[in-house]
Amino acid sequence: MSNISKELCIRLAEARRAKGFRQTELAAQVGCTQSALSMFEGGQPTKLSDETVKKLSELLEVPLIEQENVVDTSDETQLASVGIPVVHGFCPNCQCPSNVPYVVSGRLFFRPSRNIASPNGGKRCTQCGEVLEMRCPVCGAPLNDGACCAVCGSNYVTPVVPDGIDVSAYAQSRRAEIIQLRELGL
Ligand SMILES: [Zn+2]
Ligand SMILES: [Zn+2]
Repeated sequence: MSNISKELCIRLAEARRAKGFRQTELAAQVGCTQSALSMFEGGQPTKLSDETVKKLSELLEVPLIEQENVVDTSDETQLASVGIPVVHGFCPNCQCPSNVPYVVSGRLFFRPSRNIASPNGGKRCTQCGEVLEMRCPVCGAPLNDGACCAVCGSNYVTPVVPDGIDVSAYAQSRRAEIIQLRELGL
């Protein structure tokens, strides 16, 4: 596929990592070789056929739209028209129990809960009082479901944890704490 940008290849690679797929697994699912996928992810869109790229886009839920010229990413109606589900509000505080940590390939991510804000409702987190973010803090696009912005690939919640911490152990114990808090109805 030659008519997509290097940035979009990289966005698809980020989405694969965020979903926890290995290159070999994903290549098998879309019917290409691991090495072709690897070159594609490295920014060579012509290494995969149009059909394969479409399958990747569907599996990884990354629409094949370019950031600047096709869709105005600050326009919720346009995003919805290309299949990016728009959601409202997340708490940017990584210590907040509304954000659930998980680890993919040694990297820490936080998946925000979306039920803490309504489109017209409060502007502060009901759990910790932090001011909610209603858009991607990096590119300003409307929010999508998941831990990362579908438009620019940034994490919504920035992990702030001590250097050198074992992120898997951290995420595991933090998830256990969050489950306890939810069971207590806090
Ligand atoms: Zn919060
Ligand atoms: Zn973004």
